Amino acid sequence: MSILRLTQAIYDQIRAHGEQTYPHECCGALLGHSMQGGWHVVAAIPAGNTRTDSAHNRYQIAPLELVKIEREARSQGLDIAGFYHSHPDHPAQWSQTDFAEAHWLGCSYVITEVANGKAAVTNSFHLAGASEEEKRFEQETIVLEE
Ligand SMILES: [Zn+2]
Repeated sequence: MSILRLTQAIYDQIRAHGEQTYPHECCGALLGHSMQGGWHVVAAIPAGNTRTDSAHNRYQIAPLELVKIEREARSQGLDIAGFYHSHPDHPAQWSQTDFAEAHWLGCSYVITEVANGKAAVTNSFHLAGASEEEKRFEQETIVLEE
């Protein structure tokens, strides 16, 4: 099982973002470095949810925004460690849509359930597999540090 290591402050930031956008989904990117067994996240970058058709159960970071985030990460010597989004009034489990739209092999996908406007369970899933054909989500352990 892989590990997603992040500070309590970043963890709280991700969860608070989900509460702010409720009843819509929030989304953002996670920046960090890869380490043995997973990612060490050092920043969470909130992004605008570009889905206007169904913003309560879909999320998407605009391609241009993602390019900007990636460039900024590189300039700081960081990589995109993964992405986060919220599930308003739905469990913190990936959906078929989440899986279909996940293409960053080796990255972490963090999902927070927001129940009645309050952040509940947060889970992280590692997108494992060497190719799009064999990709799969594996739940990973979130380790909080000071
Ligand atoms: Zn989702």
